[in-house]
Amino acid sequence: MRCPFCQSLKNRVVDSRLKRDGLAVRRRRECSECTRRFTTYERVEEVELIVVKKDGSREPFNRAKIIQGMLRATEKRPVGIEVIEGFISNMERDLQEKGEREVDSREIGERVIKKLYEVDEVAYVRFASVYRSFKDVNQFMDELRELLKDKSRMAAKGKKRKGGVKTEGAASGGKGYEDLADTLNNSVKRRGKRV
Ligand SMILES: [Zn+2]
Repeated sequence: MRCPFCQSLKNRVVDSRLKRDGLAVRRRRECSECTRRFTTYERVEEVELIVVKKDGSREPFNRAKIIQGMLRATEKRPVGIEVIEGFISNMERDLQEKGEREVDSREIGERVIKKLYEVDEVAYVRFASVYRSFKDVNQFMDELRELLKDKSRMAAKGKKRKGGVKTEGAASGGKGYEDLADTLNNSVKRRGKRV
């Protein structure tokens, strides 16, 4: 570190202490040339994540925006805010640990979709129908069918159903499926309007 008085690079640390908030180390240094003292601070570099959008434009990683999107998708669904916030914190840490400053908006979107898929199928469909620009309703239906197949396979594996044969399309109990169908209808209607 260059001495601010004489520009010499030679100095020694005479005192070193952690700041009270624990976020920085303060060091008193004495210049070996002019013997004057100056202070340096060492702190963890905060890497601000930059999101690269589809059109190539960039914006800072915006936690609030992702929370909003996920809250919209999980409205009136049994998904707690702490689940959403925890997920976003994990994602942020994960992306920062990769050490890359830029992240594709697509990657964030896919992570959100995967998470919603895990926690609530209705929220998943809501988010996916908006986020993934499905070419048409058929493509959307295909994806939905796959999802339902997956879920009922998982349910079948988890526990034997009492009712026996009537498992077709039962995602996680009949109610869930009705909700899902409603959501699907609504989003198809909405998409229809937009075109
Ligand atoms: Zn000096």
